[in-house]
Amino acid sequence: MRDIDHLWIDGTRTTPLEGTVEERTHPADGSPTGRVVMGGAADVDRAVTAADRAFDHWSRTTPEERIALLENLLVEFDRRADDLADAVTEDMGAPVTLARGAHVPSGRTQIAGAIEAARAHAFEERRGNTVIRHEPLGPAALITPWNFPVLQMAGKTASALAAGCTVVLKPAESAARSAEVFAEVVHAAGTPAGVFNLVHGHGAVVGSALAAHPGIGVVSFTGSLTTAVRVTTAAAPTMKRVLTELGGKSPQILLPDADFDVAVGAVHRWMMAMTGQLCSAPSRTLVPRARMEEFLSVLVPSLEALTVGDPRDPATDMGPLVSEAQWNTVQGWIRRGLAEGARAVTGGPGKPEVAGGLEAGHYVRPTVLVDVTNDMAVAREEIFGPVMSVIPHDTVEEAIAIANDTPYGLAAYVVGADRERVEEVASRVRAGAVLLNDAELDWTAPWGGYKQSGNGREFGVEGMLGFLETKVIHGG
Ligand code: ADP
Repeated sequence: MRDIDHLWIDGTRTTPLEGTVEERTHPADGSPTGRVVMGGAADVDRAVTAADRAFDHWSRTTPEERIALLENLLVEFDRRADDLADAVTEDMGAPVTLARGAHVPSGRTQIAGAIEAARAHAFEERRGNTVIRHEPLGPAALITPWNFPVLQMAGKTASALAAGCTVVLKPAESAARSAEVFAEVVHAAGTPAGVFNLVHGHGAVVGSALAAHPGIGVVSFTGSLTTAVRVTTAAAPTMKRVLTELGGKSPQILLPDADFDVAVGAVHRWMMAMTGQLCSAPSRTLVPRARMEEFLSVLVPSLEALTVGDPRDPATDMGPLVSEAQWNTVQGWIRRGLAEGARAVTGGPGKPEVAGGLEAGHYVRPTVLVDVTNDMAVAREEIFGPVMSVIPHDTVEEAIAIANDTPYGLAAYVVGADRERVEEVASRVRAGAVLLNDAELDWTAPWGGYKQSGNGREFGVEGMLGFLETKVIHGG
C-alpha cells in the first residue's frame, strides 16, 4: 500500500495547495491500496503557469529534439512496463495478462507512433512565396478516463509533445496509480521542467478548471458524452479547440454466412476480456434470425466457460468492474433490460461465484440479453459492463439500418464469408472504425468517432495534427 501525496508540477513532485486526500481500494477484493491527494483549482493554475512558461521553449524545438525526448520516453516506458501493467490492474481490475498483453503494448505503440508522426510530417511547406507552417496550439489539457489508462495517457501525451505542446494531464480519479507510474516514466526520460505536469483531482474541480483556463490552448478529452458536453461548455468562452473521444453502442453485424467462432472470438476479445469497459465494445450483436439458435449455442457455452475472478491471477479471463458504483450501474442496466422485456440466456443480475474469498470485489457475470429490440434503452445506452444485446435481423439491409440507428458511431464489427459483401457493409456503417472478421486492430491508425462518439482523431499523424495550428506566411 503506497500513498500518492503529490502532484507533478514544473518537473517536481509538488504538494497540492488545496484539495482532499482519498482512500483507494482494489477492485479485486476491496482491500485498501493507499491514499491519493486530489488537487484543486489553485493547483491547476500553477500547473498551467508552468506549462505556459515551458511552452516558450518547447514550442520552438525542432522535430528532431522532440523525437529525441520521445525516444527516451520509450526506453523508460519499456523499463517500467511491468509496473505500468500492475498499476492498471490495481486501478481498474484488468486481468494482469491483459494489462501486460494489451494495455501496456498499446500505450507503447502510441509513443512509437508519435515518433513516426513527428519524423514523417512536414511541419513547414512552401507553395510559391507562401509558407504554410504547423505550430503547436499551446499548453494542452489532457483529461483521461480509467478504462484504458496507459493507452490514453501515453497516446495523448506523446501526440501533444510531438506537436510541440506542453502538457497538463488530469487522469481519472480511478487511474491515479497508473498516472503516477507514467509521470515517473516521463520524468525519468529527462522531460524539461514544465513540459509535462500532472494534477490529480476530481473532474468537476480540476478537469473543469483546466477546460476553462485561458492559458490552455487545446483540450483532449476521453470519457462520457455527458462530461464532454460539460468540458466543451467550460471551454467555449475561450474558443480553445476541444478534441473528444466518447462512448459507443457498437454493432456487430453478422451476415447470413458468418462464421460464429469468429464472431464469438471478437466478443471475447473486445467485450468480455475488458469486462465490457471499452468504449468500442461490441454491445449489440445483430444476428440473422434464421441462425439465432445456432449463434447462441456457440456463444453461451463459451461465455459460461470463462473464469471470472481475481485479475492478479494469470488464469483469469474476466476481472471485476472498476468500482462498486460501476457494479451498481451495470446491475441496474441488467434489471432494466429484463423489465423492458429482454431475457437473459446467460448471466443476469447478482455476483458470480468467485474463488478465493473475494466477496468484496466488483464481479459480474457475462450477460447475454435476447428478445431485445433496438428501441429499448438497454440497446441504446452505453452500459460499460459485460452485457450484450442480441438483436435478430431478417435482411442485411435491416441489419445496416439497426446498426446505424444509434446516436453513437465509434466502432462497428462485420462478420461474413463473402469479402466483397463484408466490405460493402463496412462502407455503409457510420462509425470511425470498422473491424472485419477477426482483424487485428491497427493501434497506429487514427481512432475516433462519428456522431456523438466524438469529434477528433487520436494516434499517429492524425493524433498529432489535433495539437497543431496552421500559420501562413505570405511573401515568405
Ligand atoms: P467515466 O464515466 O468513464 O468515468 P467521465 O466522462 O466521467 O467518464 O470521466 C472522464 C474524465 O473526465 C475523468 O478524468 C474525469 O475526472 C473527468 N471529468 C469528470 N467530470 C468533469 C468535468 N465536469 N469537467 C472536466 N472533466 C471532468
